[in-house]
Amino acid sequence: MTEGRQAEGVQVPALMVPFLDLSAMHAEVAGELDTTWREVMAANAFIGGEFVAGFERQWADYCGVSHAVGVANGTDAIALTLRGLGVGAGDEVVVPANTFVATAEAVALVGAVPRFVDVDPSTLLMTADSLRTGITPRTAAVIVVHLFGQLADMDALGRVAEAANIALIEDAAQAHGGTWRGRKAGTFGHAACFSFYPGKNLGALGDAGAVVTNDEQLAARIRSMSNHGRGHSNHAHALVGTNSRLDGLQAGALSIKLRRLDAWNRARQSAAAAYRRQLDGTSVRLVEVAEHADSVHHLLVARVPDRATIREELKRRGVQTGVHYPVPCHLHPAFANTTNESLPTAEQAADEILSLPMFPHISNEQISHVCTSLQKLLVDIEELVTADAR
Ligand SMILES: *Cc1c(COP(=O)(O)O)cnc(C)c1O
Repeated sequence: MTEGRQAEGVQVPALMVPFLDLSAMHAEVAGELDTTWREVMAANAFIGGEFVAGFERQWADYCGVSHAVGVANGTDAIALTLRGLGVGAGDEVVVPANTFVATAEAVALVGAVPRFVDVDPSTLLMTADSLRTGITPRTAAVIVVHLFGQLADMDALGRVAEAANIALIEDAAQAHGGTWRGRKAGTFGHAACFSFYPGKNLGALGDAGAVVTNDEQLAARIRSMSNHGRGHSNHAHALVGTNSRLDGLQAGALSIKLRRLDAWNRARQSAAAAYRRQLDGTSVRLVEVAEHADSVHHLLVARVPDRATIREELKRRGVQTGVHYPVPCHLHPAFANTTNESLPTAEQAADEILSLPMFPHISNEQISHVCTSLQKLLVDIEELVTADAR
């Protein structure tokens, strides 16, 4: 009974494979988290304070930059970075079309206009050529998104941004610890933005985010804006800011989980390698990883025909999947007035991409179950197509 048993006509899958399982990660650190809660409470360090300062230092050191500013979430990290760089009304910011909507949202929130560009068909990342297509006399910045955990070609993108005299911002919300030619995400741009949403490679136990930069003045401006525009004195508001601070409880949890980040990233990389080995020679195509990129596989994305059927059939076999993202940003009603160009690679990818289960503690048995199920479904679909053609 390897295929599961029949119960009142409903197939019970032989093995369940969740899309993401955070509980095994949290089990590893549960004891340490308990201690931290008590320490944060004893210190009354709920907002700002020693736990936030400690994590900011650790995160800057981990990334290899001089400053990290903890903020409330990844979206704010991007918006505050844009404002800190003086980007606002009248400016355009180049953004890849296939990203989580927050990248574009942050641009709109500061009063600028996102200018969407297409991406590379094999990696689904922005390229130097696609960046060039988006640059106009109004361009103030580009936000390069390290989608799915893989860094884009930062050498080529850096050269184009420099020649055009625009700011380069990394949206590294999916790439904690990922590298390009051995250099970490967060070290290439004027600033880089991280989200610590629970499902990210480094996740808090709620919302959290950070900006990292080597620019001391930019860090100081973002720190001030994230805390109501405060200067050195609590009641001197030099800038119009907002409330986007990192909580001590979240910072304490992040410090503990940061010690595991490299091990968890390596576990994701082994899982990705196992998927690639097992799917090699089948008709399942995975999004490629470029030679100089070391992806931390926030997501493992395949491209399939007839995605809706495949998702449904995988679900019946106990395999949960996701789609990141089904609609490219330029086709959302919210951004309808920003472009009328078609971006064919991003549009086609949006119809085909399928995110397979990926998390540090996924077992080889689970990976094999996903791969055999997927392979079998694709063979069935191909046979149907051939039969229809006859
Ligand atoms: C998660 C994410 C964000 C936004 O982060 P939040 O913490 O949810 O605000 C931005 N960009 C990308 C690419 C993301 O994956």
